[in-house]
Amino acid sequence: MTIKNKLRSGIGFLFVLALICCGMSIYFLNRLSADAGAILKDNYKSVQYAQSVLTTLDSHTGSFTPEQVKAIDQNMVLQQRNVTEAGEQQLTDSASATYEKLKQPNNTEAVQNQLRSRLHQHLYGIMKLNMDAISRKNDVANATSKRGSLLVAFLGAFLFLVAFSFAVNFPGYIANPIKELTARIKEVSNKNYHQQIHFESDDEFGELGQAFNTMTRKLDEFENSNLASILFEKKRIETIINSMQDAIIGLDEKGIIIFANQVACNLIGMKADQLNGKYAPDIAIENDLMRKLLVNDQAKLRIFADEREGFYSRESLSVSSRDKVIGKVIILKNITEYQQLDEAKTNFIATISHELKTPISSIKMSLKLLEDERIGEVNPEQRQLITNIDEDTRRLLLITGELLDMAQVETGKLQLNFGSTHPQNIVDYAVKAIKFIADQKQVDIKVKCDESLPKVHADLDKTTWVLINLLSNAIKYSHEKSTVELVVKKHKNDEIEFSVTDHGKGIEDQYLPRLFERYFKVPNATSEQSGTGLGLAIAKDFIEAQAGKINVESEIGSGSTFYFTLKRAIAAA
Ligand code: ADP
Repeated sequence: MTIKNKLRSGIGFLFVLALICCGMSIYFLNRLSADAGAILKDNYKSVQYAQSVLTTLDSHTGSFTPEQVKAIDQNMVLQQRNVTEAGEQQLTDSASATYEKLKQPNNTEAVQNQLRSRLHQHLYGIMKLNMDAISRKNDVANATSKRGSLLVAFLGAFLFLVAFSFAVNFPGYIANPIKELTARIKEVSNKNYHQQIHFESDDEFGELGQAFNTMTRKLDEFENSNLASILFEKKRIETIINSMQDAIIGLDEKGIIIFANQVACNLIGMKADQLNGKYAPDIAIENDLMRKLLVNDQAKLRIFADEREGFYSRESLSVSSRDKVIGKVIILKNITEYQQLDEAKTNFIATISHELKTPISSIKMSLKLLEDERIGEVNPEQRQLITNIDEDTRRLLLITGELLDMAQVETGKLQLNFGSTHPQNIVDYAVKAIKFIADQKQVDIKVKCDESLPKVHADLDKTTWVLINLLSNAIKYSHEKSTVELVVKKHKNDEIEFSVTDHGKGIEDQYLPRLFERYFKVPNATSEQSGTGLGLAIAKDFIEAQAGKINVESEIGSGSTFYFTLKRAIAAA
């Protein structure tokens, strides 16, 4: 039966019981009232009539007055009509006959007294008969009332018991299954899908239980099939990772090693089961390579493994899920081969640029001589040619110089001459060196460098070279007759920042991270912007070698700001 029907029949049953109770009460009350009415009508009235006749009779001795006769006649007639008890008719008739005789005027006093006493007896007889009947009927009414009360009390008690058990049991009947269902749903939300509900009833709760059981069964099946496919995928990924030539180590968000492939184990010098499940910083205490791997700022590592030296580039990828970092993967790419090729290239570049410097310098010398009028007259066309050759030679010298600087940095032969210099000196040297180019393009260099700035701990030549490079780029990428701002200011952390801002066309965001890479040039640059793409890379090396930082901010259409920082010189220096 459904809950709805159960509720209907429960409440209906209570209602019917209450109706029966009311009906019984009304019935018994009616019966009592009928009994009382009968007593009043049948007996009490007769007692009254007899009493009235007696009272009238006793109120006067001798012959009756007309009023007495009238009153007695009236009561006698009424009594005749109200005979209800056995023997009452006989008494009433005798009383009437005796009264009739008493009314005779010729009765002697003795006869009269005799008749009066007889009438008295008859009337008392009537009264007693009726009084007895009243008492008997009263007993019957009492018995009826008791029976009625007992029956109504019994029904009321039964009704109370039914209602009480309904009130006690019904909330539990509804709430218990809901409570159990809530508990099971909580378990399901904790991924515990082996939940089954057994509601025995065949009502809505039974159906709900069955639906819930079906749902958890399906969830369980889905979870199992999902788990199987996840395990399969895991195996597949593990196989791929193990067959890779790069070293790969996976860590969870707490730094526990989840996996390390064979190459990684070889490099670290530990077995996979010694690494898996261990807290990486704990391993790093005794393992140099792990220590280096956990430090983020080392991009290139030289590692000795299997009795060979190799070069590896370190990459760290964060693994996130729903905007939450859940771990990271460290990849060590074997770049030994590239490193060797790179070294060969650097040596080659160094040799070539060095070799080129001498002939280019002698071309420059020869050009100087050609320009000298004492050597001989040159016509305007020839002078123009000489100027072009001079310009190209200057650029060639610049390029070979940059290539040499780069080779120096790459081979680790960069020599720095640190000193304590006022930023103003660096600015003055750089502005002076660049003035000619700036004037040619009518670019105004606005310098803001406070005299009160502290001195910097820097290599004057290298820093000036960097500033010249930034200024020369700023002028190169500025429009004619524009301005370039060179600002030097002090940071809160005691670093001194040099910034060069132009109002040229700016650089697209996507190219900003690559600007400081070797040979990188923003694509679609016009011929005017031709260069080696080495300037910023060397600048970065020079600044970082002095423990400084270099960076850029740019907005398309508004221009760019290149800035670098240097450490403040220690007062005693
Ligand atoms: P280059 O010798 O080509 O100037 P750099 O390393 O100095 O080499 O610069 C790299 C590239 O960065 C340039 O080719 C140019 O595209 C871009 N660049 C540098 N400075 C600026 C600047 N101030 N405004 C716009 N682009 C710039």
